[in-house]
Amino acid sequence: MPRSIRRLAPETASRIAAGEVIERPLSALKELLENTLDAGARAVEIRVERSLDERFSVSDDGHGIAADELDLALERHATSKLAAFDDLDRLASLGFRGEALPSIAAVSRMRISSRRSDDAAAAFVFVEGGAVIDRGAAARATGTTVEVSNLFFNTPARRKFMNSPTGELRAAIRLVECYGLGYPEVAFRLIVDQRTRLDWPAVSGEAGDPAARLGQRRARAVALWGARHAEQLLEAWGTRGGYEVQALLGLPEHARATREAQVFLVNRRWVQSPLLGQALRQAYGNLLPTGRFPACTVWLTVPPERLDVNVHPTKREVRFADDGAVLTLVAGACAQPLASLAPPFAVVHGGGREAHWGETVFDRPVSQPALPLGAPAWRASVAAPPAVPTGAEAPLEPATGAGTRDVAATASSAAPATETPDLWQLHRTYILAPVRGGLVIVDQHAAHERILYEQARERLEGRVGVSQQLLFPTLVDLSQSQFDLVLEMGPLLQQLGWDLSPLGPPSVVVRGVPPEITADPPGRFLQDLLDGVSESTGRTSDQDAAEHLARTYACHAAVKAGDALSAAEMRALVDRLFATTQPHGDPHGRVTFVRLDLEELNRRFGRG
Ligand code: ADP
Ligand code: MG
Repeated sequence: MPRSIRRLAPETASRIAAGEVIERPLSALKELLENTLDAGARAVEIRVERSLDERFSVSDDGHGIAADELDLALERHATSKLAAFDDLDRLASLGFRGEALPSIAAVSRMRISSRRSDDAAAAFVFVEGGAVIDRGAAARATGTTVEVSNLFFNTPARRKFMNSPTGELRAAIRLVECYGLGYPEVAFRLIVDQRTRLDWPAVSGEAGDPAARLGQRRARAVALWGARHAEQLLEAWGTRGGYEVQALLGLPEHARATREAQVFLVNRRWVQSPLLGQALRQAYGNLLPTGRFPACTVWLTVPPERLDVNVHPTKREVRFADDGAVLTLVAGACAQPLASLAPPFAVVHGGGREAHWGETVFDRPVSQPALPLGAPAWRASVAAPPAVPTGAEAPLEPATGAGTRDVAATASSAAPATETPDLWQLHRTYILAPVRGGLVIVDQHAAHERILYEQARERLEGRVGVSQQLLFPTLVDLSQSQFDLVLEMGPLLQQLGWDLSPLGPPSVVVRGVPPEITADPPGRFLQDLLDGVSESTGRTSDQDAAEHLARTYACHAAVKAGDALSAAEMRALVDRLFATTQPHGDPHGRVTFVRLDLEELNRRFGRG
């Protein structure tokens, strides 16, 4: 039986509406923080007791609310920021709907005390579940304090779906950080259970011109992350037709697997923006493998009438009138400082002299290493490792000196006799390479994979073709499915460097192999490669087939963790890694190297 239509009781209606704006404790904090900034606060203090849903307060020294307007501020759709609909096009404030205070009031116990600069006294109002239960005079300086306790006490369903208190607190810290970056001229303090968690003084200087503005923003970044981190951020800026962008960009090696470290501020509003994410992606280009997101802060100023902020209940998203203009401006501006990243490191020679990537490293042009990684000797060295302790007891192996093996000996005859590069292999997994200002630790497998992958892609795109002819053609027996794959992928395999002809199911004759792999026995490698390719699913086009082949090939042909490397091999590996287009990650997006700064070591050893 359908029921008849009735009006909801106002109290029910307001709780439902509150759920849209205040979906979690963090939303309440966000709204109150935005109100302080709209009120022109110079200092904002947030105090949390136990957790956001138990009790927190936000205090500011902004313009305050008149005593006789306190009730009005608590009414739905009551705002001092918007008079007419058209004002939305000229919006300069973060709030505009007049919904936050009534929404929070509906689902908590809330006390607002406030004073305007020309008021004789302050006033307060106390509301419980939306109903005013006390009001009167208060004592305080100009500004406003909103205290919120027992959030969602009257909406038990909402309580059940709440994030963990610590997760909510982490999100709160990030929120304050983001607005801290948006408003460097405002002092922020966050105190949790009497402990000061964040404390940033106001950064002085009325930011007039772009350079001053960026300076102010960088100073705030230093307060947030420390000088050492902030120093490594690259600056970008650009303007065009009323749009202005500024950015602090993290180095590719500091990129993350999530968007966590990206902060977008559009007209000083902290937003999520797939469009800006895309612009950064474009700017970093091949400095980053897919699946890694740069750490960065972007400040974008857009003519207010070209921006719609009224598209999301919690105002976390905005819409641009002209996506194309924004994309071009941001991607273009950010690409500029990143272009200078071409020589990422200078490897320090044994003698302390520095060579720069891009010119020569180890006294050789990068393009022609003395020992091509993957020459037959390469695999030979892996096939016959010397007797060196393995596992956790493996000592650091100096790259040169006593105990070097035949391959290294061969290689060192090709290199200047005076050369003593400080390269070390750690646990037969990592290569340690001193660089200017610190140390680079390279994952030998991931690095080799990146190198081989790029070589394979080049060959598959038909730019280069090489094959290493075998002295004696070999007959290889395959499974039926492997054989079918050879027929299907014949041209690609050939481009990769395989010279093989199907003899009749299930055998093929191998006459030549890609130059990186050992000639003996080529059959095993071919089978592994084919199995690897057929395992990778979702193959839909030739483009994908080539991609899968290149990845699988790189993974199978690369040195493994546990493989001992000679000095020359290590040199060639490090050399070639930094000559690739994306040295920072392997084809799967895993990191290929990390850098340890001397400063960090000095700090940890108490060297000041
Ligand atoms: P909105 O921010 O959309 O206007 P709110 O419900 O958040 O709506 O706030 C209602 C009104 O209360 C604001 O328009 C403003 O006039 C006043 N107000 C709220 N917080 C503050 C504050 N911290 N300082 C001064 N005025 C405030
Ligand atoms: Mg507001």
